[in-house]
Amino acid sequence: MEKLPNCDVCKQSGRDRPAKYDSKTQFGPHAYLCEEHYQSLGCEPTTQLEERVKIAAAKTDQIPVVHLPLTLDDIVDVECPRCGETRTVEPDANYTVECESCGNKFRVVSAI
Ligand SMILES: [Zn+2]
Ligand SMILES: [Zn+2]
Repeated sequence: MEKLPNCDVCKQSGRDRPAKYDSKTQFGPHAYLCEEHYQSLGCEPTTQLEERVKIAAAKTDQIPVVHLPLTLDDIVDVECPRCGETRTVEPDANYTVECESCGNKFRVVSAI
């Protein structure tokens, strides 16, 4: 989750208001609720959505590391951890590369 969803109850009356909670409601099922609807309809268990968004954002900022296998070849295939696109690097590579397919960076670390 990278963005706050809209409140499910507001949606039913045609309004778009960002939800703050993923909460069980007095009707039974879980719903995304804005502050106001959380106060009137929400009950435990409840998760604060802002926490989840923060966690998701922290993860996507990290540069994943790909460890190269030990090989006697001159080049090694590495797979982009985000999209799976392969590219070749030298077996003693030790640097950050940018994926040509998805544009995300990842770090290749040599085992040599
Ligand atoms: Zn609402
Ligand atoms: Zn990629």
